[in-house]
Amino acid sequence: MPVFKVGSPVFLTNTALRKSVGIGTVLRVIPSEGDSSDPALYDVDFASGLRRLHASELRAALFIVKTDPFSILYCGEKERLRTAHLNALDIYVTGVTTMAEAVGVIAHSEFDLVKRNVDVAKQYLEETRERLNTHIFTHGC
Ligand SMILES: [Zn+2]
Repeated sequence: MPVFKVGSPVFLTNTALRKSVGIGTVLRVIPSEGDSSDPALYDVDFASGLRRLHASELRAALFIVKTDPFSILYCGEKERLRTAHLNALDIYVTGVTTMAEAVGVIAHSEFDLVKRNVDVAKQYLEETRERLNTHIFTHGC
């Protein structure tokens, strides 16, 4: 059974849906309770929204990370977009965590500010992912 961690880029194994849904990112791993017959679940953030999926429904979207600029597999633009996407994911995950911890602790007006920041981070995350998806599908790298 494949194991994914937070930040892993993933595709759906369902090929009919894969192309339309694009690459998602694992936002949260929900560990199995007790024995291993009950596999972990993954909250995966797709452009179309959040989905809760089993590992069997997911496949790692393998980015071939080649740092050798002379390799034909190396695409500097993809690397740049991927880094931007991972940074955006980091900001978003931090924001969501902060928001979860702030519920009922800080003033309502302050919470609204935190929530607005998270919304902006979410939008930025979607933009960076969209650019990465588009580049990979058009450039074929
Ligand atoms: Zn490329």
